[in-house]
Amino acid sequence: MAVYFDYAATHPTEKEIIEKSFLYTGNPSSPHGCGIDARKALENVRLALAKALGCTGEEVYFTSGATESNNTAIFGVCKAKKRFSTRIVTDDSQHPSVSEPIKALEQEGWEVVRVSTKNGVHDEAELREAFSVPVALACFMSVNNETGAKYDIKKIKKLIDISGCGAHLHLDAVQGFAKCDSVSVYRLCDSISVSAHKIGGFKGTGALVIKKNAKIKPLIVGGGQEKGFRSGTENLNGILSFGEALKLYDAEKLPEKYSQTLSALKEVPYLEFNLPESRCSHIISCIARGIRSETLINFLSANGVYCSASSACSTRAKGNTVLEAFGVKSEDIIYALRISISPKTTTEDILTLKDALLQGGERLLK
Ligand code: PMP
Repeated sequence: MAVYFDYAATHPTEKEIIEKSFLYTGNPSSPHGCGIDARKALENVRLALAKALGCTGEEVYFTSGATESNNTAIFGVCKAKKRFSTRIVTDDSQHPSVSEPIKALEQEGWEVVRVSTKNGVHDEAELREAFSVPVALACFMSVNNETGAKYDIKKIKKLIDISGCGAHLHLDAVQGFAKCDSVSVYRLCDSISVSAHKIGGFKGTGALVIKKNAKIKPLIVGGGQEKGFRSGTENLNGILSFGEALKLYDAEKLPEKYSQTLSALKEVPYLEFNLPESRCSHIISCIARGIRSETLINFLSANGVYCSASSACSTRAKGNTVLEAFGVKSEDIIYALRISISPKTTTEDILTLKDALLQGGERLLK
């Protein structure tokens, strides 16, 4: 039986969630009974998300996923604030759905400051310097999708406030949401991105929180859904899956599973660990000394064990700046391996993973 250790890429959807996600099928904007029922179900999910994200229902907008949420926040805030400042502050470890829109703005003339994140910690002097002049947008993530680093967003917010730079603080909470982020951190942010498929909902559904007083312009215009901020018929079934997944995700189980997994992996002699000082309990980044990522991943896959090199997104991109920013030597990037778990990961899964890795070592190490 296959065992899955790639939950940071996506959390497969359980049958129970699939079934409950198709209980309503009308258009939430239709005025008849079928539409009204769909609208009610959708609004219930909005309220559940609002509760988990420390905001009001009016501040939650559904999107096609966190890539859209991040793009909307970045382009939308910068468009609204360009007279105030043309500086963006971010870091060197962002997901492409953040780093690429920022790069596009940089090409249009925006000044971008990328703070370093060695060992998963922001350089405080660089942060202070970055916030020493007016800033339109500060864009950070709560948990890194490749290393599992958990960043100190409270500190960043404090530095923004002390500096008086006026930055809008956008948080990519995709990897921390429902797992290890705290609502008190969400309350400090001006906008937040989350994605359904990282907790067991459908792919292609996400949300963007925009706090009431934030200055932002919409990216997608049309039929005026989502209070005119994000047009397009809502992805009702995806949204329902998000609500069901949120109900079922039991993050309390993660820390124990994480230490069990890490202990097992430590018994694999060729693995070295990129452990951030402060970290989440579902992502473990390693270097498989002497076995190239694709060779090991293919071997594991052939033996029914699924994990990834670093992230599904950077597998497609050239090089890996995130691991290098963390401090991994560039010549070691070819050996990167990412193991990510869920609350449902079992002791048996962990033992199967360890055995497959040990066998991989015997077969593939020269
Ligand atoms: N940000 C982070 C940190 C992610 O891990 C991902 C998913 N890989 C995204 C954004 C993009 O999310 P989505 O797949 O919903 O577009």
